[in-house]
Amino acid sequence: MKSNYTIEYFLENHTIFPLISPFLSYQRKQDFQQSLMIKNSLKNKKIFMDYIAKEIKYCPKCLKDDYEKYGEVYSHRLHQLYFLDYCNKHQTKLIYVCPECGVPLSNNDGKELLTRPFCKNGHSLTSNTIYLKDYPKPIKRIIQDIHFFISHSSNINKDLILERFYSELGKRGYGENYSEYIQIKRLKKDFSNYLRTLEVQQDNVIDSQFNTLLTKRSNDAPNLLAYLLLFQFISDSSEDFFSNTVGYSIDIPFKNEQQPCLNKICKYYNKRIIRTYTKRYYPVLNYSQPHHKLWI
Ligand SMILES: [Zn+2]
Ligand SMILES: [Zn+2]
Repeated sequence: MKSNYTIEYFLENHTIFPLISPFLSYQRKQDFQQSLMIKNSLKNKKIFMDYIAKEIKYCPKCLKDDYEKYGEVYSHRLHQLYFLDYCNKHQTKLIYVCPECGVPLSNNDGKELLTRPFCKNGHSLTSNTIYLKDYPKPIKRIIQDIHFFISHSSNINKDLILERFYSELGKRGYGENYSEYIQIKRLKKDFSNYLRTLEVQQDNVIDSQFNTLLTKRSNDAPNLLAYLLLFQFISDSSEDFFSNTVGYSIDIPFKNEQQPCLNKICKYYNKRIIRTYTKRYYPVLNYSQPHHKLWI
């Protein structure tokens, strides 16, 4: 069959790639796109497998809608994330076995997908749809965040994410005085308490790779759930996390023009001669006893 669809088109519209790509290093993204050219490359399969549930999941209401509209049913990409069991459109719980007889709706390798909204034993999968009054606490925001990432995927990359982390965490007192490093131990503890209030299972979020979320180090399969929950912890939502762009250090606008020298005894005083700058952090020590304050 001749088709005008490119690999990029397929990735953007039919896979969860737009959701993952903002978190990948530039090199990793390139490697991934190239590996797709090689048929059956194990490497490119792995990147999706880390995010996809073992069983194919379906929303009963989507099954019904698809069948009425197209005469067959489809598996939806956002229903397959391992950490999300709800339809983002219908507020329903996803199913992977027949609610009536418990037979799996697809086999594990995904080769046998449903084409009609009936299980192997002929039970209708659309007749007993369970609608939720509301999503569990963190889920609603995660669903919004996923949509935010999918529609802003091309504008967000790992560098921007790190820049925002350092700025927002610095504002909230997690910055080290001597450097741009983040007080990761304290952050982990506070984040862990936050997860407890959300009743989120911690092992899936704060894993052995947690520290790499905040560094430039490339990670083959960055923990998407951990990122989304960290954005929530810091800024309430991913949208807020990226829209609040006021830095905690003085932001010198060097974008297009040189800046004037502000040193009155310099012969270039008030002349636009400054092209670059570097940031330095000076230690500020607070002693709890009175009269022992330094550098205040
Ligand atoms: Zn649905
Ligand atoms: Zn059945």
